[in-house]
Amino acid sequence: MDVSHILDELNDAQRQAVTVEAPHCLVLAGAGSGKTRVLVHRIAWLIQVEHASPMSLLAVTFTNKAASEMRGRVEELLQIPSAGLWIGTFHGICHRILRRHADEAGLNPNFQILDSDDQYRLIRRTIREMQLDEGEYPPRVVQGFINARKDDGVRPDHIDPGGNPLTAQMIEIYRTYQAACERSGLVDFAELMLRTVELLRDNPARLQYYRNRFGHVMIDEFQDTNTLQYALVRLLAGGEDARLFVVGDDDQSIYGWRGARVENVQHFVRDFGPEVVRLEQNYRSTRTILEAANRVIDHNDDRMGKNLWTEGEEGEPIRVFAAYNEDEEAEFIIGRIQDWVESGRRPSEAAVLYRSNAQSRLFEQALLRADIPYRVYGGLRFFERAEVRDALAYLRLVHNPADDAAFERIVNVPARGIGERTVAGLREAARTRDRTLWDTTLHQLNTGALGGRARNALAGFVELVRGLAEEAEATDLGGLMNRIIERSALIEHYRAREPADRAEARQENLDELIRATENFEPSIEDEQAGLSPTASFLTQAALEAGEHQGEKWEDCVQLMTLHSAKGLEFPLVFMAGMEEGLFPHQKSTEEPGRLSEERRLAYVGMTRAMELLYLSYAESRRLHGQTLFGRPSRFVGELPAGLVQDVRPRLQVSQARAPREHGGGLPSLGSRVSHAKFGAGTVLSVEGQGENARIQINFDDAGPKWLVAGYAVLERIG
Ligand code: ATP
Ligand code: MG
Repeated sequence: MDVSHILDELNDAQRQAVTVEAPHCLVLAGAGSGKTRVLVHRIAWLIQVEHASPMSLLAVTFTNKAASEMRGRVEELLQIPSAGLWIGTFHGICHRILRRHADEAGLNPNFQILDSDDQYRLIRRTIREMQLDEGEYPPRVVQGFINARKDDGVRPDHIDPGGNPLTAQMIEIYRTYQAACERSGLVDFAELMLRTVELLRDNPARLQYYRNRFGHVMIDEFQDTNTLQYALVRLLAGGEDARLFVVGDDDQSIYGWRGARVENVQHFVRDFGPEVVRLEQNYRSTRTILEAANRVIDHNDDRMGKNLWTEGEEGEPIRVFAAYNEDEEAEFIIGRIQDWVESGRRPSEAAVLYRSNAQSRLFEQALLRADIPYRVYGGLRFFERAEVRDALAYLRLVHNPADDAAFERIVNVPARGIGERTVAGLREAARTRDRTLWDTTLHQLNTGALGGRARNALAGFVELVRGLAEEAEATDLGGLMNRIIERSALIEHYRAREPADRAEARQENLDELIRATENFEPSIEDEQAGLSPTASFLTQAALEAGEHQGEKWEDCVQLMTLHSAKGLEFPLVFMAGMEEGLFPHQKSTEEPGRLSEERRLAYVGMTRAMELLYLSYAESRRLHGQTLFGRPSRFVGELPAGLVQDVRPRLQVSQARAPREHGGGLPSLGSRVSHAKFGAGTVLSVEGQGENARIQINFDDAGPKWLVAGYAVLERIG
């Protein structure tokens, strides 16, 4: 048979991987060397040449976006629809397995996914109910604790508090929270994985079924798998005939902070003895970009080490821009994007990458002003917006009255006179009765346990939800969503509370939600699994939040965190906010190993760029309500000088000098000084040199002032 379409556009090493005969294979290779491409071609090879049934293939990638791209690429190669093929994220695949065997996994067949925001609320509520101090047990910390335990496959009973009362209490919260989830049929993200692993581990029949079914398990971005994910891989591929195909890059392991274990790469070699294929040719970036990225990652000493070369052109130097502040930085970047578009290139070829979500807003605003379309990946995404979540909470409660998280969210939204005291009473009663909030409400309404006003309000709420549930019988998902928004009066609620433009934006989002439900078609797998369209939609909203904004191929600038850029590529890339404290992130300097992870993140960012790469930093930045004065990121300093061009000569102001003892030298940016008349303040900027330099200081009491260095007598403090 003619296999040229599968093998032609591959180099020798890539071909070796695609056609590998050994049972297991590990492709360990640097960025842009074609790992994902090899995985896609391997799928085509298995189906067309080895005649593997598409049903026997399981391909796992890191994001839903990557999964749908992979599906598209497989279909293109095979020229057939990829139905039957399981391609998805670990979470998506576990969800599918649990839906099929909810009973055996000990789950409510109607279980709902608890996303991280709902999880946070539920944990906070649990802490309150246990009458613990939120200061001592901050819900975020507890959430991190619980998820980290689950990611390691650990249940409360497995943890030894080691005589530490704080740990003992955390374990208790974990236990109580888990009980609340079970009561309400809620499953958090980590639980999806853990339940599946437990199901397969403890149920030989199921395990055998999936082992028989999946002859081939393929995993992209393997370096970022966590303990449980690897456990799942071992379970699935534990049979005699299983074949594992794994691709990854240790230099791109960037989720250690969330439990990923790069050691899994070595464990895989130890446990499965795979044939190892290395790819060394990079097809993505110019020589300049590749060389610079290689040099930066070279500063890490915990690498497996690899060579990466390209036949590509030398390309443009890497541009570094020092902005006065974050506004100027955003303006500069948008200006370059405008140049790019004016030169005939597309907005969607440009990506702005940043370390933390909070940085996106400025770029959004500047892009709006410039009238350039953009899309934000990550951050506050469509399904995470408050009004959308409110409306979805109604849908959830209508679908599954046991959903306590949904109940809590909307019992008094819009306000219907159900006070916090009433809700607290319900919670307490629900806990004592070990029943859901909905059930407890009905009970209390029936037994007359409630006071007049609360009673009426709750009765009204129950009637509303029941009415909607009845309507749900008679209409489809789109119709139901329409009725929910109408009868809940959410739009009116926001209109009454907020300025017109904000309320309008919320209304637009709710309209968009109606459209989404009207156009929604459940996947074949969900239908086969017997999921109602509503359940299928809710699942998608929770699992794929934000990855479906707008048209997939709409031409817009891409904004995203460095983390979510993994695996992607763009002709023009900006890495913004290259400042110490921001990137590398403040926390990374405090924990061992974290700095290398930040550097790998820098490597990931740089290697997204195909043609042109910009790095920028701001000398002062307002973030989270504070003004920061960061020095340029050490990663900027690690770029080889010969490959870099400064867009604007770095100004005198950016050179942090040691202040001279008696007021003679210039203070450095951000340092604290004291002035005889104005008192203490922070240095905002310094212009010029020597006696004539002008120094701007933000005095704590007197506000910002410009002073001339030659006259002002300043003392360095703090
Ligand atoms: P990352 O580590 O960032 O995930 P990767 O190793 O998965 O990168 P791919 O995304 O598969 O790399 O490939 C990078 C780019 O190089 C893609 O545009 C791909 O189409 C192209 N490419 C890979 N191999 C070849 C080849 N043999 N010939 C031409 N182009 C190739
Ligand atoms: Mg890839």
